[in-house]
Amino acid sequence: MSELKPCPFCGGEVSMSLTGRGSLNWVFITRGNSKTKKNCKCRLFMESEQYDIVTTHFEERQKIRENLAEAWNRRVGDDLMERMADDGKWPHHSE
Ligand SMILES: [Zn+2]
Repeated sequence: MSELKPCPFCGGEVSMSLTGRGSLNWVFITRGNSKTKKNCKCRLFMESEQYDIVTTHFEERQKIRENLAEAWNRRVGDDLMERMADDGKWPHHSE
């Protein structure tokens, strides 16, 4: 599992969480919940694709998490401020 890059806005830690509805699950990246590091406090949210927990194998679930981590890290590495202007998916900085 790739290490998640810190929040591009405040430099705080972000985390990946699991959620779901019925048999559908997905993971998302949001503000961190670390007890030892500075956590991100922004209104961040980046979701993975959804998968069915009954039919999706463990390896596939891991792949989905990995894809989300890679997408996040790629995004953070880009020239974010420029991209924010025309991408509504990025939430506003709340600090
Ligand atoms: Zn932040």
